[in-house]
Amino acid sequence: MNYPKVKFKINKELDKKTAWQFLNVKEAGIDFGKSILAVHPELSKINTLKNKKEKIKYINKYFDGYYKKYGKMLANDLIIVEKEWCLIKNEFFEVVDQIFYDYPWPKGRYIGYMSTLNCNVVFWKNKEWQVFAWLPDKYREIIVHEMLHFIFVDYFFKKIKNKKLREQWWTIAEVFNTVIINTPAFKKLIKPGKELGYPEHRILAAKMKKEWKKTKNIDQWIKKFSIVVKE
Ligand SMILES: [Zn+2]
Repeated sequence: MNYPKVKFKINKELDKKTAWQFLNVKEAGIDFGKSILAVHPELSKINTLKNKKEKIKYINKYFDGYYKKYGKMLANDLIIVEKEWCLIKNEFFEVVDQIFYDYPWPKGRYIGYMSTLNCNVVFWKNKEWQVFAWLPDKYREIIVHEMLHFIFVDYFFKKIKNKKLREQWWTIAEVFNTVIINTPAFKKLIKPGKELGYPEHRILAAKMKKEWKKTKNIDQWIKKFSIVVKE
């Protein structure tokens, strides 16, 4: 089996972009702007600035300063995140193989970018994502979550032709994670963490957890989703 080689990098420019893009985003019960401001309260100043150009300029300057101040800490966390992944990757790929019946991993860059924003943004096409740097206890959770997304979404679009179901791919992928990462094999990997999922998916996730227990078969589980979601 060919497994992706996951890399981790520091990327200041990406933090600037994410901050700008997510300051006003709310999704499925999570307020990304609030998460950003919790770490970077100074960014609330952009609301007082006149136009887009000034706001972006302020953000860029702010992160240049922030990275100057915390660059060493980030470099240190980069080493930690690499170690954490090394410790779990073999077992992770093994459990994933079992669930996906040795389905091959999709091609991609597989880069986790250390980020000072608690957004954990995913770049689906290239298989890249951001890892919030200031919570090392959650590194494993974040890596497992995003890696599982990459294989699940690829598998899903290859197998599922139903248009209605395909439109809901993101919700299904999130619910899948909430169900699967809380099974013993994955819980062991992210210990002592827990996959909470998005607040708005909680009822659905509880129902789909029961469905998983019945068959533990991914194809059956996806089929059940279309029935359960209508209930
Ligand atoms: Zn996700």
